[in-house]
Amino acid sequence: MNKRAKGVTVWFTGLSGAGKTTVALEVERQLEEEGYYTQRLDGDIVREKLTKDLGFTKEDRNKNIERNTFVAKILTDNDVITLCSFISPYESARSYAREEISEVGEFVEVFVNTPLEVCEERDVKGLYKQAREGKIENFTGISDPYEEPKNPDVELKTAQESVEESAKIVINHLREKGLLDKE
Ligand code: ADP
Repeated sequence: MNKRAKGVTVWFTGLSGAGKTTVALEVERQLEEEGYYTQRLDGDIVREKLTKDLGFTKEDRNKNIERNTFVAKILTDNDVITLCSFISPYESARSYAREEISEVGEFVEVFVNTPLEVCEERDVKGLYKQAREGKIENFTGISDPYEEPKNPDVELKTAQESVEESAKIVINHLREKGLLDKE
């Protein structure tokens, strides 16, 4: 029997390679083990489908966030724990997501605060190398801005924490806020 939590969107923001997807996957794994309904919305995946017409200009990034906020809002309204991982570099777009989703449930902003040097060293998808060589334009942290969250609900330091520790910090926050109380 699955447990229904209160609707919440957990919004992971941070540079490419910061660990948004990796931590969201681990949070999903741990919560599903406890029997909660979760749904992940991941930038790399939705950009192949829902927002495949969009690029990385500020205008397109905003549209990407708007469309995904629409989906996350529906899920949250249906009491699903929704795990969003988008670079979402603009403060205004994150505020928009918070405002929209707060109409139907909770919004938890998680700043995956990994230094650019560490992300570049990891270079999970080889994108930093390409961005440095000028082969990719508008690359966050290299040739495009990242506006750091000023008041995130949760901050993760993945350069110092293990994936499991980072995931636990997120889950503990949800628990403390009463968002994992069973109905
Ligand atoms: P993003 O989704 O932010 O672009 P990814 O999750 O795709 O980033 O990549 C993060 C990389 O960092 C992975 O290779 C992951 O194994 C590694 N990593 C090392 N430590 C951590 C940690 N504590 N949390 C998350 N990722 C970590």
